Amino acid sequence: MKKQFAIIGLGRFGGSVAETLHAKGYEVLAIDKNPNHVQDIARFVTHVIEADSTDENALQEIGIRNFDVVVVAIGEDIQASIMTTLLLKELGVAKVVVKAQNNLHGKVLEKIGADKVVYPERDMGTRLVHSLISPNILEYVELSKDHSIIEITANRFFANHTLLDLDFRVRFGCSVMAIKNQGELIIAPPATYEIREGDLLFVIGNNKDLKKLQEQAY
Ligand code: ADP
Repeated sequence: MKKQFAIIGLGRFGGSVAETLHAKGYEVLAIDKNPNHVQDIARFVTHVIEADSTDENALQEIGIRNFDVVVVAIGEDIQASIMTTLLLKELGVAKVVVKAQNNLHGKVLEKIGADKVVYPERDMGTRLVHSLISPNILEYVELSKDHSIIEITANRFFANHTLLDLDFRVRFGCSVMAIKNQGELIIAPPATYEIREGDLLFVIGNNKDLKKLQEQAY
Protein backbone atom coordinates (compact mmCIF):
# COMPACT_ATOMS: atom_id res chain seq x y z
CA MET A 1 0.00 0.00 0.00
CA LYS A 2 1.18 3.50 -0.82
CA LYS A 3 2.33 5.76 1.98
CA GLN A 4 -0.24 8.13 3.37
CA PHE A 5 0.71 11.71 4.15
CA ALA A 6 -0.80 14.49 6.23
CA ILE A 7 0.38 18.07 5.81
CA ILE A 8 -0.31 20.55 8.58
CA GLY A 9 -0.06 24.23 7.61
CA LEU A 10 -0.93 25.16 4.07
CA GLY A 11 1.16 28.26 3.47
CA ARG A 12 3.40 28.45 0.43
CA PHE A 13 5.68 25.61 1.56
CA GLY A 14 3.07 23.24 3.01
CA GLY A 15 0.73 23.94 0.09
CA SER A 16 3.44 23.08 -2.39
CA VAL A 17 4.36 19.86 -0.53
CA ALA A 18 0.71 18.79 -0.42
CA GLU A 19 0.02 19.54 -4.07
CA THR A 20 3.20 17.86 -5.30
CA LEU A 21 2.58 14.68 -3.31
CA HIS A 22 -0.97 14.51 -4.61
CA ALA A 23 0.19 15.10 -8.18
CA LYS A 24 2.55 12.15 -7.73
CA GLY A 25 -0.39 9.94 -6.86
CA TYR A 26 -0.24 9.80 -3.08
CA GLU A 27 -3.11 10.16 -0.64
CA VAL A 28 -2.76 13.51 1.06
CA LEU A 29 -4.72 14.94 3.93
CA ALA A 30 -4.23 18.70 4.20
CA ILE A 31 -4.89 20.44 7.50
CA ASP A 32 -5.02 24.14 8.32
CA LYS A 33 -6.81 26.27 10.86
CA ASN A 34 -7.45 28.97 8.29
CA PRO A 35 -10.63 28.20 6.30
CA ASN A 36 -9.40 30.19 3.28
CA HIS A 37 -6.25 28.10 2.98
CA VAL A 38 -8.26 24.91 3.37
CA GLN A 39 -10.60 26.01 0.61
CA ASP A 40 -7.80 27.06 -1.73
CA ILE A 41 -6.09 23.67 -1.62
CA ALA A 42 -9.20 21.47 -1.60
CA ARG A 43 -9.13 20.54 -5.28
CA PHE A 44 -5.43 19.68 -5.25
CA VAL A 45 -5.42 17.10 -2.43
CA THR A 46 -7.36 13.99 -1.39
CA HIS A 47 -8.96 15.36 1.80
CA VAL A 48 -8.91 18.65 3.65
CA ILE A 49 -9.75 19.40 7.25
CA GLU A 50 -10.04 22.73 8.98
CA ALA A 51 -8.49 22.19 12.41
CA ASP A 52 -6.08 23.66 14.91
CA SER A 53 -3.19 21.23 15.19
CA THR A 54 -2.38 22.35 18.73
CA ASP A 55 -5.67 20.78 19.79
CA GLU A 56 -4.91 17.21 20.87
CA ASN A 57 -8.54 16.09 20.58
CA ALA A 58 -8.76 17.39 17.03
CA LEU A 59 -5.63 15.45 16.06
CA GLN A 60 -7.00 12.30 17.66
CA GLU A 61 -10.34 12.66 15.89
CA ILE A 62 -8.53 12.99 12.58
CA GLY A 63 -6.79 9.69 13.36
CA ILE A 64 -3.46 11.34 12.76
CA ARG A 65 -1.46 8.39 14.09
CA ASN A 66 -2.56 6.28 11.13
CA PHE A 67 -0.57 8.42 8.70
CA ASP A 68 2.87 7.21 7.73
CA VAL A 69 4.36 10.68 7.52
CA VAL A 70 3.10 13.98 8.90
CA VAL A 71 4.71 17.19 7.67
CA VAL A 72 4.41 20.23 9.95
CA ALA A 73 4.72 23.29 7.75
CA ILE A 74 3.61 25.96 10.16
CA GLY A 75 5.76 28.98 9.45
CA GLU A 76 5.54 32.08 11.59
CA ASP A 77 3.90 30.62 14.66
CA ILE A 78 6.86 28.81 16.22
CA GLN A 79 4.95 27.95 19.37
CA ALA A 80 2.22 26.22 17.34
CA SER A 81 4.86 24.36 15.34
CA ILE A 82 6.55 23.07 18.52
CA MET A 83 3.30 22.12 20.24
CA THR A 84 2.04 20.34 17.15
CA THR A 85 5.26 18.36 16.80
CA LEU A 86 5.16 17.35 20.47
CA LEU A 87 1.54 16.21 20.22
CA LEU A 88 2.18 14.24 17.03
CA LYS A 89 5.06 12.33 18.63
CA GLU A 90 3.03 11.75 21.80
CA LEU A 91 0.15 10.41 19.75
CA GLY A 92 2.54 7.94 18.15
CA VAL A 93 2.99 9.27 14.62
CA ALA A 94 5.87 7.25 13.14
CA LYS A 95 7.54 9.98 11.12
CA VAL A 96 7.19 13.70 11.74
CA VAL A 97 8.95 16.10 9.39
CA VAL A 98 9.00 19.74 10.47
CA LYS A 99 9.92 22.98 8.77
CA ALA A 100 12.11 25.13 11.02
CA GLN A 101 12.28 28.90 10.89
CA ASN A 102 15.79 29.12 12.34
CA ASN A 103 18.50 27.06 14.05
CA LEU A 104 17.14 27.43 17.55
CA HIS A 105 13.67 26.38 16.44
CA GLY A 106 15.28 23.40 14.69
CA LYS A 107 17.20 22.40 17.83
CA VAL A 108 14.04 22.46 19.92
CA LEU A 109 12.23 20.37 17.32
CA GLU A 110 14.97 17.75 17.38
CA LYS A 111 14.95 17.65 21.19
CA ILE A 112 11.22 16.99 21.32
CA GLY A 113 11.47 14.14 18.85
CA ALA A 114 10.99 15.50 15.31
CA ASP A 115 12.28 12.78 12.97
CA LYS A 116 13.45 15.24 10.37
CA VAL A 117 13.88 18.99 10.47
CA VAL A 118 14.04 20.94 7.23
CA TYR A 119 15.14 24.52 6.60
CA PRO A 120 13.78 25.30 3.14
CA GLU A 121 14.63 29.01 3.05
CA ARG A 122 18.14 28.51 4.40
CA ASP A 123 18.86 25.56 2.07
CA MET A 124 17.50 27.36 -0.97
CA GLY A 125 19.64 30.37 -0.07
CA THR A 126 22.76 28.18 0.14
CA ARG A 127 21.96 26.57 -3.20
CA LEU A 128 21.42 29.92 -4.83
CA VAL A 129 24.78 31.15 -3.56
CA HIS A 130 26.48 28.06 -4.98
CA SER A 131 24.90 28.62 -8.36
CA LEU A 132 25.83 32.32 -8.26
CA ILE A 133 29.45 31.67 -7.34
CA SER A 134 29.88 28.64 -9.60
CA PRO A 135 27.51 28.77 -12.55
CA ASN A 136 28.94 25.43 -13.77
CA ILE A 137 27.30 23.68 -10.86
CA LEU A 138 23.77 22.79 -11.89
CA GLU A 139 22.88 20.97 -8.72
CA TYR A 140 24.46 20.84 -5.34
CA VAL A 141 23.61 18.48 -2.49
CA GLU A 142 25.34 18.89 0.84
CA LEU A 143 25.92 15.44 2.38
CA SER A 144 27.75 16.63 5.48
CA LYS A 145 29.75 19.65 6.59
CA ASP A 146 32.65 18.52 4.40
CA HIS A 147 31.13 16.43 1.61
CA SER A 148 28.80 17.15 -1.27
CA ILE A 149 27.50 15.88 -4.57
CA ILE A 150 27.62 18.30 -7.49
CA GLU A 151 26.21 18.10 -10.98
CA ILE A 152 28.40 19.76 -13.61
CA THR A 153 28.33 19.97 -17.38
CA ALA A 154 31.35 18.50 -19.12
CA ASN A 155 33.15 21.24 -21.04
CA ARG A 156 36.06 20.97 -23.48
CA PHE A 157 38.41 20.06 -20.67
CA PHE A 158 36.65 16.71 -20.27
CA ALA A 159 35.42 16.17 -23.81
CA ASN A 160 36.65 13.09 -25.65
CA HIS A 161 38.60 11.83 -22.68
CA THR A 162 37.88 8.73 -20.68
CA LEU A 163 37.76 8.85 -16.90
CA LEU A 164 40.89 6.73 -17.05
CA ASP A 165 42.97 9.13 -19.10
CA LEU A 166 41.75 12.06 -17.08
CA ASP A 167 42.94 10.07 -14.05
CA PHE A 168 39.87 11.59 -12.48
CA ARG A 169 40.00 10.15 -8.97
CA VAL A 170 43.71 10.69 -8.49
CA ARG A 171 43.82 14.12 -10.09
CA PHE A 172 40.79 15.59 -8.37
CA GLY A 173 40.30 13.30 -5.35
CA CYS A 174 36.60 12.87 -6.10
CA SER A 175 34.51 10.27 -7.91
CA VAL A 176 32.06 10.37 -10.81
CA MET A 177 29.00 8.48 -9.56
CA ALA A 178 26.96 8.79 -12.72
CA ILE A 179 26.93 10.46 -16.12
CA LYS A 180 23.92 11.61 -18.10
CA ASN A 181 24.45 11.49 -21.82
CA GLN A 182 21.60 12.83 -23.94
CA GLY A 183 19.04 11.83 -21.36
CA GLU A 184 20.53 8.37 -20.74
CA LEU A 185 21.87 7.83 -17.25
CA ILE A 186 24.98 5.69 -16.82
CA ILE A 187 25.37 4.74 -13.20
CA ALA A 188 28.89 4.01 -11.92
CA PRO A 189 30.40 4.65 -15.36
CA PRO A 190 33.33 2.42 -16.29
CA ALA A 191 36.78 4.04 -16.44
CA THR A 192 36.73 3.49 -20.21
CA TYR A 193 33.64 5.71 -20.70
CA GLU A 194 34.50 8.51 -23.09
CA ILE A 195 33.03 11.79 -21.94
CA ARG A 196 31.22 13.97 -24.51
CA GLU A 197 31.00 17.73 -24.28
CA GLY A 198 27.66 18.52 -22.64
CA ASP A 199 27.47 15.29 -20.61
CA LEU A 200 26.25 15.84 -17.08
CA LEU A 201 28.65 14.56 -14.45
CA PHE A 202 27.45 13.70 -10.95
CA VAL A 203 30.50 13.98 -8.77
CA ILE A 204 30.81 13.09 -5.09
CA GLY A 205 33.67 14.25 -2.91
CA ASN A 206 35.19 16.40 -0.26
CA ASN A 207 34.28 20.08 -0.71
CA LYS A 208 37.94 21.03 -1.06
CA ASP A 209 38.45 18.49 -3.84
CA LEU A 210 35.25 19.53 -5.59
CA LYS A 211 36.50 23.11 -5.51
CA LYS A 212 39.82 22.03 -6.97
CA LEU A 213 37.96 20.19 -9.73
CA GLN A 214 36.08 23.33 -10.68
CA GLU A 215 39.16 25.53 -10.56
CA GLN A 216 41.15 23.21 -12.77
CA ALA A 217 38.46 22.33 -15.24
CA TYR A 218 36.63 25.64 -15.78
P1 ADP B 1 4.84 29.79 4.52
O1 ADP B 1 6.04 30.63 4.84
O2 ADP B 1 5.19 28.39 4.10
O3 ADP B 1 3.85 30.45 3.58
P2 ADP B 1 3.05 30.47 6.69
O4 ADP B 1 3.55 30.75 8.06
O5 ADP B 1 2.61 31.63 5.87
O6 ADP B 1 4.14 29.59 5.94
O7 ADP B 1 1.85 29.44 6.70
C1 ADP B 1 1.65 28.55 7.70
C2 ADP B 1 0.26 27.96 7.63
O8 ADP B 1 0.05 27.23 8.83
C3 ADP B 1 -0.86 29.01 7.54
O9 ADP B 1 -1.76 28.62 6.51
C4 ADP B 1 -1.53 28.92 8.91
O10 ADP B 1 -2.95 29.13 8.84
C5 ADP B 1 -1.24 27.49 9.32
N1 ADP B 1 -1.25 27.32 10.76
C6 ADP B 1 -0.62 28.09 11.69
N2 ADP B 1 -0.86 27.62 12.91
C7 ADP B 1 -1.67 26.54 12.78
C8 ADP B 1 -2.28 25.62 13.69
N3 ADP B 1 -2.12 25.72 15.00
N4 ADP B 1 -3.05 24.63 13.18
C9 ADP B 1 -3.22 24.50 11.86
N5 ADP B 1 -2.68 25.32 10.95
C10 ADP B 1 -1.92 26.33 11.39
